[in-house]
Amino acid sequence: MPLMTSWVASANSADCPFPLNNLPYGVFSTAALTPRCGVAIGDQILDVKTAEAVGWISVTEGAVFDEPRWNKLMALGQDAWAKTRNRLTELLAEDAADQGALADLLTPIADAELHMPIEVSEYTDFYAGRHHAFNVGTMFRGPENALPPNWLHIPIGYNGRASSVVVSGTDIRRPWGQLKGPQDDMPRFAPSARFDIELEMGAIVGTPSDGPISVREADANIFGYVLLNDWSARDIQAWEYQPLGPFQAKATATSISPWIVTAAALEPFRCDTPEREFELLDHLKDVGPMLFDIELEVSLAPEGKDASTIARTNYSEMYYSAAQQLAHHTTSGCSMRTGDLLGSGTISGPEKHNRGSLLELSWGGKEPFTLDTGETRSFINDGDTLTLHGVAKADDYQIGFGTCTGKVLPALDDPYSRN
Ligand code: CA
Repeated sequence: MPLMTSWVASANSADCPFPLNNLPYGVFSTAALTPRCGVAIGDQILDVKTAEAVGWISVTEGAVFDEPRWNKLMALGQDAWAKTRNRLTELLAEDAADQGALADLLTPIADAELHMPIEVSEYTDFYAGRHHAFNVGTMFRGPENALPPNWLHIPIGYNGRASSVVVSGTDIRRPWGQLKGPQDDMPRFAPSARFDIELEMGAIVGTPSDGPISVREADANIFGYVLLNDWSARDIQAWEYQPLGPFQAKATATSISPWIVTAAALEPFRCDTPEREFELLDHLKDVGPMLFDIELEVSLAPEGKDASTIARTNYSEMYYSAAQQLAHHTTSGCSMRTGDLLGSGTISGPEKHNRGSLLELSWGGKEPFTLDTGETRSFINDGDTLTLHGVAKADDYQIGFGTCTGKVLPALDDPYSRN
C-alpha cells in the first residue's frame, strides 16, 4: 500500500510518523479544550469529540466520543472500528469536502497535552521474548537452566496492576523496597539501587470475551498497540520473585505511549513468529502471521545532556504473538475486559545491542556500558530520562508510535513521611 495523501500537508511525507495510513488515537487537551478524544494527522490533532458532536462522525445512535477515553468505541468491536477509521480517512483525505470547516477542528500536536488514551481495566505482563528470557535465566540460574521447562509451551505471565499504568511523560519516582544481596545476612529496606526499564509492546483488548477464545478470535479482539515500559526494580525482584513471581518490583509504574496505533494500521506489517522448537498445542498454534515488523529503540538521556541510543530491536523477535498471549489468558475461562492491557514481555534480539533492558545490556551490572556522553551505566541514575521509540516502515510511508518516555526522580528521603 502506498502513502495515502491528506489535505493536512504535514502528513504527506515519507518520514512523517502520522500519515493518513496511520490515524492513531489519543486523548488531548489545550488551554482552551478540556481532555478529549483526538486522532493524529501529520503534526496536527483532529478533535474527534467535536467532530462527532457536530455530526461529521456517527458510529452509533448515542455518542461514542463524549468521554476522554477510547473505551466506548473499543467495546463496540471490529465493525465499529472499521466504520470509524473509514470515516476519519474520508474526512482527512486530500479530496475531502468541507476542508475549511474541518480545519477549525485541528490543534497542533506541539500545543497539546496528551493524556491516558484509555481507561486500563486490567493489566497483565508476559515474559514471551526468547532472547530476554534466555539472558535473564542465564544470569539467575546458568545457561543450562535458563529457560524453564514450560517456556516453549506457554506464554508465561503474571497479573499486574492497572493502577500502575501511566502515560508517557509522567515522572517516575525511584522506589523503596525490601532488598537482600547475596552477601547480606538479612534483608533491609532501602531505595532500589538497580532500577531498570523493560522495552515492550502493549496490546489493548477492545472486544470483551467470556470463556476460552481461539487465537484467531483473540487477534480480532485486539484494538491496537502502544509502546510499553515496564519499570523494574531488579534488587527488589531478586528477593521477592520466588515462588509467585514479580510483585512490588513491577508495581512502581508502567508507562505507555499516548497514541494507540490500531491493529488496522499495522495490517501491512504482519509477520510470522519464529520457528518452533516444540510444536505448540492446538489451542495455541499459529493460524497466520500475527506478529508485526516494528522497529524499536531505547534511548537514555542523563539530566541536562543529549540522549544516546542504547538498544535497537524489533517486535518480530517475540516467540509468542499478542493473540497467542490473549488466547492463553482465556484458557481457564478467564474473562477479558475492554481496556485490558497485555504487556508483551521484554523484546530483546540475538545481539548485545538488541537487548531491551539495562539488566541485559550491563549483564547484571558486571559489564557497564558507555553512553555517547562518555558516562557509563549499569542501571538507571537519578535524573535519567528513558525513552522508547517505535516505527513500522513501508517504502514510502511509516506508521509511527511516537515515544514513551519517563524521567527517574530521586527516591524520597523517607517514604513514610506523610503517615
Ligand atoms: Ca515485563
